[in-house]
Amino acid sequence: MKILVAGGAGFIGSHLCDRLLKLKHHVVCLDNLKTGRQANIQGALKSPRFKFLRRDVRSALNLKVDFIFNLASYASPPYYQAWSIETMLTNALGSHRLLELARKQKAGYLFASTSEVYGDPLRHPQKEGDWGNVNPVGERSCYDEAKRFAEALTMEYLRKHQVDVRLVRIFNTYGPRLQKDDGRVISNFINQALEHKPLTVYGSGHQTRSFCYVDDMVEGIIRAAFRTKTSGQIFNLGNPVEFSILEAVKLVQSLVDGPLKIVYQPLPPDDPRRRKPDISRAHAVLNWFPKVQLKQGLIRTIEWFRNGG
Ligand code: UDP
Repeated sequence: MKILVAGGAGFIGSHLCDRLLKLKHHVVCLDNLKTGRQANIQGALKSPRFKFLRRDVRSALNLKVDFIFNLASYASPPYYQAWSIETMLTNALGSHRLLELARKQKAGYLFASTSEVYGDPLRHPQKEGDWGNVNPVGERSCYDEAKRFAEALTMEYLRKHQVDVRLVRIFNTYGPRLQKDDGRVISNFINQALEHKPLTVYGSGHQTRSFCYVDDMVEGIIRAAFRTKTSGQIFNLGNPVEFSILEAVKLVQSLVDGPLKIVYQPLPPDDPRRRKPDISRAHAVLNWFPKVQLKQGLIRTIEWFRNGG
């Protein structure tokens, strides 16, 4: 198949490109390298079946493709807040461009959405049918509402134009190629630990997240794209094992030598208290569940950061 990966030089996107090449597909990677990195696709660039287009997902695009993965967006809170309007337009206009391309080419389409659509969830764990408890005008809204708009647009292309679409809602993911300075909790803790700086815990540290290793995530994304009976479906993808931020900080401390201190900083506004996916649908339809445990995944990630990232 000829496959377009928008955001293909990013953290998850570049791992997805690698996997698709291994599966013998032809891959076109589209990325403006705002947060994606050329270094992430160094391996892929060696393949004759890989093509890199450095351009914005909002610009016009005419390509013959069989399937489109749309992962083009800023994704970490400090970045999407710094580039808030860009984040909104990338998800809105970029989705429109790619959905139009899917319609014209009769291509399959997968949109990489986020657990953020659930906001500060009212129900635990979160199921795909939940509507979300989202502040429409807060500091995270530029991301949450952009993704919610793009989800709605994707579903309208199914209803109005019968495009073969699906949504995946990605929960916190980590692993090699996680951008060093992206400000997310795992990269912050590993950086700080390796530099023997205090580890910054926001708020009490009792808020929870569930962390999925990137290889597991890519497997889920590929199954959501290519398995039968996925058209029009929404899948939570994430690791259902829940950790408090304090538990995560202690795990990182135990894996990096030396005495490490914790420093408490204020909780950012609208920071969700709990987050954990219900992945029973992905399990039932895709026969997917994450296999890599946090400790195991952290060891690999720390190793990658140690070697210069
Ligand atoms: N967090 C933290 N220290 C950091 C970075 C983040 O305690 O250095 C917390 C943050 O407040 C949130 C959780 O870790 O509760 C996950 O944050 P992240 O920015 O990774 O992503 P989010 O899940 O909030 O989108």
